[in-house]
Amino acid sequence: MWIDSHCHLDAPEFEPDREAVVARARAAGVTQLVLPAVAASNFETVRALAHQHGLAYALGIHPLYVMQAQDQDLALLDDWLTQYRTDPHLVAVGEIGLDFFVPGLDAQRQQHFYIEQLKLARRHGLPVILHVRRSADQLLAGLRRLAVPGGIAHAFNGSAQQAQAFVDLGFKLGFGGTLTFERSLQIRRLAAGLPEAALVLETDAPDIPPHWLYKTAAERAAGASMRNEPAELPRIAESLADLRGWTLAQTAALCTANTLAALPGLQRLRGATGVSGTG
Ligand SMILES: [Zn+2]
Repeated sequence: MWIDSHCHLDAPEFEPDREAVVARARAAGVTQLVLPAVAASNFETVRALAHQHGLAYALGIHPLYVMQAQDQDLALLDDWLTQYRTDPHLVAVGEIGLDFFVPGLDAQRQQHFYIEQLKLARRHGLPVILHVRRSADQLLAGLRRLAVPGGIAHAFNGSAQQAQAFVDLGFKLGFGGTLTFERSLQIRRLAAGLPEAALVLETDAPDIPPHWLYKTAAERAAGASMRNEPAELPRIAESLADLRGWTLAQTAALCTANTLAALPGLQRLRGATGVSGTG
């Protein structure tokens, strides 16, 4: 079995055929998906989708959404985390973090939302799912100040030293479609060299397409889609298997175990829903 540790199933790109997307994932052996929220406005959507399909979800405010977020959304998040404390589908606080790549974002406001959400994760005893873009050192500084019960640095793209610092703080690093590009030298080097217990797989669907879904700017202008989906995870995992010299079965077993360790609520959910995947 496979776990897609990061999938935005609620994205509008999946509106036409969401049921079929989940069915294709399951048919491909991707038995569990983690659906992170990005804003208070989609808390209910990710929760409902998770319940409808036997999936997991996380609640949080994404750094790219803090500009449009209200200050009271943090109190709202606290309320949701309290109200759904015993919901076995709720496995993390996320997607939270810092983005210093996209221009025009208020760094101080991002920091405020990041730190306040770390405090909530601590208070509610939940791991976090982190968005890292040109922000690894600042994220690490926050984690050193406010220790949380681990989690996942998703779509990790920092240096080897930064990767090791996340690992030292009990985090796993998420790898996906970027691994499938031969030119992704740094990410492939990290995936090949990190301790095996640090690796988890994700698609970030509908984003981060693997190379076989990639379309040029001209193709996109002509209307071609490069929508990624969770059923692609096993094929993406072949890149990791090749880099590590593992069989696909070893890769599945190891990454599944690592994801369950990073998000212990997933184990509770397996027990609660009877979703398969003991093998
Ligand atoms: Zn995401």
